[in-house]
Amino acid sequence: MIAPTPSALDATGLLRLVYASTCVCGIAERDVRDILARSKENNFVLGITGMLCWSGEFFLQCLEGPRRPVTRLFSKIASDPRHADVELIIAAPTQVRWFDRWAMGFTRDMMSHGGDVRATNAAFNPYALQASDLLELFERLSQSAQPM
Ligand code: FAD
Repeated sequence: MIAPTPSALDATGLLRLVYASTCVCGIAERDVRDILARSKENNFVLGITGMLCWSGEFFLQCLEGPRRPVTRLFSKIASDPRHADVELIIAAPTQVRWFDRWAMGFTRDMMSHGGDVRATNAAFNPYALQASDLLELFERLSQSAQPM
């Protein structure tokens, strides 16, 4: 029997989770910066990576990492009063991290990376998109967005 390599062991049990939510009234750029700063610190410790998209009206986030920390973090995020209508869209096992460069990447400019995902940035509505479109969007973001 061939022993698994460290990278193969690391990939075992990874979960990719994508959810959409609606910003509460009055959320500002400063609040999102606070969320990002906290996310980067916490996620690094937990071994979680991902990308947060903010359209001004909606959030769309991809989290990836070991299953238990990701599901626990999602429960915490879902009860955060800074957003509402949290809708879990994708929770799927994966062997690869798309965002291994970022504890939490960030973009406001989803559509310039999203290619043929049918929406404009101004009208971006993550609830209206298919799960497959969202996966495509995040895969493209992982290739083209710059770490912040
Ligand atoms: P602290 O930062 O000390 O916060 C303690 C408590 O205060 C928490 O209950 C928090 O919800 C609340 N709180 C803090 N600031 C505010 C505020 N300005 N308004 C209202 N309540 C506040 N956290 C991560 O660790 N990783 C992520 O990837 C992540 N993504 C997020 C995405 C979105 C869209 C949102 C809205 C939040 C996200 N958060 C994320 C934040 C998360 O919901 C928790 O606030 C955070 O994880 C708590 O961090 P902490 O345990 O270090 O506590």
